[in-house]
Amino acid sequence: MMNEVTTLANGWLQVKIPLPFSLKWINSYVIPEQEGYTIIDPGLRTVEAIELWDKVLQQYNIQWNSIARIVLTHQHPDHYGLAGYMQMKSGCSVYISKRSHQYALRLWGEESDYPAALRELYLEHGMPAHVMDSIADNLASFIEKVSPHPKVSYIEAGESIMLGGVSWVLIDAPGHAFGGLCFYQIEWGWMICGDQVLPRITPNVSVVPGEERDPLAAFLQSLEELKSYEVKLALPGHRDPFTDFQGRIIELQAHHARRLKGMVEQLSEQPRNAFDLCESLFGGRLRDNPHNLRFAMSETLAHLFHLEEQGLVHSKRIDDLLIFSTE
Ligand SMILES: [Zn+2]
Ligand SMILES: [Zn+2]
Repeated sequence: MMNEVTTLANGWLQVKIPLPFSLKWINSYVIPEQEGYTIIDPGLRTVEAIELWDKVLQQYNIQWNSIARIVLTHQHPDHYGLAGYMQMKSGCSVYISKRSHQYALRLWGEESDYPAALRELYLEHGMPAHVMDSIADNLASFIEKVSPHPKVSYIEAGESIMLGGVSWVLIDAPGHAFGGLCFYQIEWGWMICGDQVLPRITPNVSVVPGEERDPLAAFLQSLEELKSYEVKLALPGHRDPFTDFQGRIIELQAHHARRLKGMVEQLSEQPRNAFDLCESLFGGRLRDNPHNLRFAMSETLAHLFHLEEQGLVHSKRIDDLLIFSTE
């Protein structure tokens, strides 16, 4: 069993909240305040996550009603999902950017247009309908894991916020999640970076129907901007806090450059649709894991759309399918 709680140098707690997928856990950070506590990213709403919170709060003698605030780096269910439940238990305020909040409501709200839009996108890019069905089921299973939605207050990039008695600057960090925020503390050189920069995991960059067509461009631009910050310790949403923030950004930039180059090479040999390319990049066994397949497919599309925006590949509609080539 992994060690669930780590005390950081400044007395904050890093709590590893279990996740029912290959990421294994999400980091919540518990910050002692003059009155009560702030929690960064409480996790996904599952029985296991709630059990762990009960255990940790008891162990550290924290009452539910002393949780004063939840601050969210971004809207993905593994970060946002438990916020409403925790607010119900504690009465705390929940802070998130407006764009992130609107996304959460759009994707996981009652009359979401997202599953239908995603189906249309994936089918025209070559995914077989029965594979899409398993993705749709998996998507629907998230609704209970983000319910109830919290009542929120907005925080935005460019503002600052007090966490643990010191001031943090909020930085716009789009691409992995539009509306996502990083939090930077200049004297400490600490960066709370959500999923924008992760150690040993490549942050997912997905095309989301109804949003920017080229999220990878925004992500790469954000990495370039984040690289200029002097960071002594980065607190990520997954895996453990790490020190070489700049070095990790350089690795991520190199990963995407390699991936883009490899895709152009593959397409110059043979025109293909996005789903074919996805399976050749990530392997056909992903069909057994609809969650991971959705990430892989949307990431493949992100790279293809980025290449298309740059004029390096072109798509043509043949029958009902979009086929990419370098011609
Ligand atoms: Zn995320
Ligand atoms: Zn995450």
